[in-house]
Formats: sequence, C-alpha cells, structure tokens
Amino acid sequence: MSSVEVFDFQIDYIINTIKKCGAEVVGLQFPEGFKRRASKIALIIEESTGAKTVISGNPCFGACDLDSALVGNVDILFHFGHSELDDTKLEEKVCFIDVRSNVDVVAVTKKALLKLRAQRIGLITTVQHVHKLEDACKVLESNGKECKIGKGDSKIAYPGQVLGCNFSAARAEECDEYLYIGSGDFHPLGVFLATKKRVLIADPFMNEVREVDPSRILRQRSAVIAKSLDASIFGIVVSTKNGQHRIDLAFSLKELAKSNGKEAHILSMDMITPAQLLQFKVDAFVSTACPRLAIDEIGRFYAPLLTPLEFRIVLGDCKWEDLMFDEITGE
Ligand code: SF4
Repeated sequence: MSSVEVFDFQIDYIINTIKKCGAEVVGLQFPEGFKRRASKIALIIEESTGAKTVISGNPCFGACDLDSALVGNVDILFHFGHSELDDTKLEEKVCFIDVRSNVDVVAVTKKALLKLRAQRIGLITTVQHVHKLEDACKVLESNGKECKIGKGDSKIAYPGQVLGCNFSAARAEECDEYLYIGSGDFHPLGVFLATKKRVLIADPFMNEVREVDPSRILRQRSAVIAKSLDASIFGIVVSTKNGQHRIDLAFSLKELAKSNGKEAHILSMDMITPAQLLQFKVDAFVSTACPRLAIDEIGRFYAPLLTPLEFRIVLGDCKWEDLMFDEITGE
C-alpha cells in the first residue's frame, strides 16, 4: 500500500472519530486516483471499529462531488482527497480527509530557485501540499526572495491553495512570478491565464522544475471558439452536483444568447458525458458545470463544448484576449 506511505489518510483519526460518535454504518468516498486504496482502508476501519463500511462507487473529482445519496444512508461519511467547500459545510455527517502528502518539497524548491527570475514569488499548491508551503517559503526567503502566500475566497480552505475551478489565492497577493508546488499542469495553467504572470511548476514527486507553457491549450481553446462562431442553437449544460450547480449563470447565458438572436436550451444533469449529450441536436454546448470538463474532455463531444467566458467571446460580448479558465468563485 505504497500510497499510504506517501499520503496520510489519517486512519487513526478516522477510527477515533467513529468510536467517539458510535457510528455503525460508515460511508467512504474516494476520488478516482485513490479508489484502489478503498478496500484496504475499509478493511482496517471495519476491523478496528466493528462498524460496517459502504464505499461510494460513483465518480468523484472534487469536494463538489459529494455522494449525497450515500450521506443519507450512513451515520458518518469520510470524503478523501479534497478540502471542504463552502457548499458542503452544511453536511454535518461528512468529514473531509485532506490526504496530505509526506513528500519533501525542499529539494525541488531549491532546484526552482535557479529558474525563478523575479523577487516577489507567489507560492501556490493543491490541498495535498498546503502544509509544506512554509518549508518552500523558508527556502525562498533564505535565498533573498520575498514569499507571498495568498488567502483565497470562501471556496478555499487554506492559504496558497488552488482548485481546478478557483485561483483566488493566486490573485490575493501582489507578486511578479509564481511557484506551483505539485504535479500536473491544469492548476498552474489556470494561474497563468488568471494572472498573465510567469508560473514555474516544481514537481516534488519527480523532483523536476518546468515552466508553464500555455500555447497548446490556447490553440485548442481558440479552435473550439472558432468552430462555434457559426452556431445558432446552443445547449447550456448545468450540473446538479452541489458545488457545480450554476443555474443562475445558465439563465443569464440563455438571455444573452437570445439578445444576440441565438437559440439556447438549458440541459440539467448530474454526470456530463459525451453519451448523455449525444441526442440533443444543438450546434455547440456551453458547460456551466466543473470548469475542467471543457478543457480536459476536449474533442470527446460531438459538438464544441465552450466555457461560459468562451461563449461570451463567441457572441462578441468579451474579447479573445480576455480568455482564461472558467472559475467557480466564493465570497
Ligand atoms: S468543480 Fe471541478 S475543479 Fe472545482 S472542485 Fe469540483 S471537480 Fe474540482
């Protein structure tokens, strides 16, 4: 169970919590990347507490994906890998387990120093490494840099944390360049597009530093917008998931379409897949659901899938230069 060595699933805390509240049926929800750890963790919990466990089999990509049906059928639900969102705070039976990484970030931050050009560095990361930002900050400051760790809006649980749909922590502090601690390109790309400042990725798992290059993603997004310019009928997709449900935005986009002489229909669903959209005969879709959908699933839908901002660009309501990732912001 190697990931348990790298990631902290807080098993002792979970066992104590179950014993303290006397839960008899315990729900467990894992994001896709941790699902293969589920059976082992369930076994440990059952053997240590005597409680029965039920593992959510539904897809899970964020805290916005809380398995509400399962919450209703268990005494307590542990949701792994994400921090609490303001939309999920009402669910008293849900306990969020961040699953923090134990991987060292000092070595890769030292490596990044050689490539950082500016003085004021904004430090950003995902929930898995937020507790390590101070370590990275010490490295930067002891080498003469100024370190900025911004506090995001109400969607963001920890200073410096970014979500795939929220880069408010990056915008919260004035800085000239960003250092993203983590793997993957989506979050740092989002920060680049939101701030238009240079972003370096310091991947502590690979001990590798690289600069964000937005050219491919910008080409792809420009192609999606270009393909939608002649569209006259749009499907505006709304997700029923708690943290993604933006019906007011969908209504305002529909109005905007109308005032531009276009036809638009609001399509409501839980999971948004190419198969589910197949039967709706429209020229282009607009996703108000998870902002990652349009970017990560590019080319998988039969018609172009735009973000709300891209839709505005298509209608001439925003400029191409304004292009950035869609965000679901808080207070
Ligand atoms: S909406 Fe998407 S990016 Fe935002 S928390 Fe949910 S899964 Fe993550």
